[in-house]
Amino acid sequence: MFRPLVAHIDLEALHHNQRRVRALAPWAKRLAVVKANAYGHGMIDCARALDSDTEGFALLSLEEARSLRGLGVTKPILLLEGVFKYEDYQAVCALHLTPVIHHAEQIRMLELNPLDVPEKVFLKVDSGMHRLGFAPHQVIDAFKRLKALKAMGRSIDVVLMTHYACADERDLAAQQMGVMAELKASHPELNALETSYANSAAVMAGASFGKEHAVDIGDWVRTGLMLYGGSPIAGQTAAELNLKPVMQLQSQLIAVRKAPAGEGIGYGMRFIPDRDMRIGVVACGYADGYPRHAPTGTPVVVNGTRTRLLGRVSMDMLCVDLSDCPEAGVGAPVELFGRHLPIDEVALAAGTIPYELMTAVTQRVPRSLVFGS
Ligand SMILES: *Cc1c(COP(=O)(O)O)cnc(C)c1O
Repeated sequence: MFRPLVAHIDLEALHHNQRRVRALAPWAKRLAVVKANAYGHGMIDCARALDSDTEGFALLSLEEARSLRGLGVTKPILLLEGVFKYEDYQAVCALHLTPVIHHAEQIRMLELNPLDVPEKVFLKVDSGMHRLGFAPHQVIDAFKRLKALKAMGRSIDVVLMTHYACADERDLAAQQMGVMAELKASHPELNALETSYANSAAVMAGASFGKEHAVDIGDWVRTGLMLYGGSPIAGQTAAELNLKPVMQLQSQLIAVRKAPAGEGIGYGMRFIPDRDMRIGVVACGYADGYPRHAPTGTPVVVNGTRTRLLGRVSMDMLCVDLSDCPEAGVGAPVELFGRHLPIDEVALAAGTIPYELMTAVTQRVPRSLVFGS
């Protein structure tokens, strides 16, 4: 690789995290969420690695689903937003995909299209997040309409789905659980259905609140963030939750220089040293996905020593403080996040979330597969 910036993808860590899902929810069937190019980690490589240790996958687009089928994946693939137009049900059936049904229009498209009815769907209930899904009072009607459809002469298999807005806040999750419980209590025909309620935060919260407060996670869990080693629980680190970082964004110093006191560094001269300083220039910028809004002070690890970002992030470079790294010269390794610097910490310092940092890493950053350290 010509430029020193690389995203190392640790497949051993990915397996470890997937085993954590199994340990936290031994009864559940795991849908590995690989949307957004597996949160920036590379969908094909991650799916290939996980295929033998998952019960299915979840993603967003037909193209992604088609490439998984092309790899030889035969397990269930959930389309998290369902289909967007009538014609797509044909491909959904041909590829044996499982669409989410979250809107009456998606049922109408099926009623108009009786030859292309999928064998299984996830019926999404809006239990309080108010993004996608049927309002509780609409669910039974949607269910009956789905049941009236026949997939190759057989009744269509329905899984009841919802999504928590704040799974790691017990009271708010409990409210949503109450909505689902009430729905089932008033319509016994929904009781027999399999369910899918949980993302990473809910799986973790289900375990960490203790039995009497556990978040109901249902039969099929949909975990993304925790698979990649991000902490889904505010205030708890990934290490505390026994998750391992999968991506390590690594680069090098490409220049080392003296920054004289009183003279600004980089665009906008946002950082002005109050004394002469040794600084380093790192090959990584916002065109690589590093957040431009990360402020001075955002942690960076140079040569194994934790230091900080200085001034504005440029398109292809950023500057770091080398005051505490006197030995670090051109070519010294720099970790932007990953093994020695949790992505959650960098996200916090930059005013964002690990999801955004992972998915932002751009195409021009080569991914390199590793297996353990
Ligand atoms: C992305 C997504 C998930 C995965 O969420 P994580 O927080 O990454 O575990 C689960 N369910 C739905 C509906 C999603 O869109």
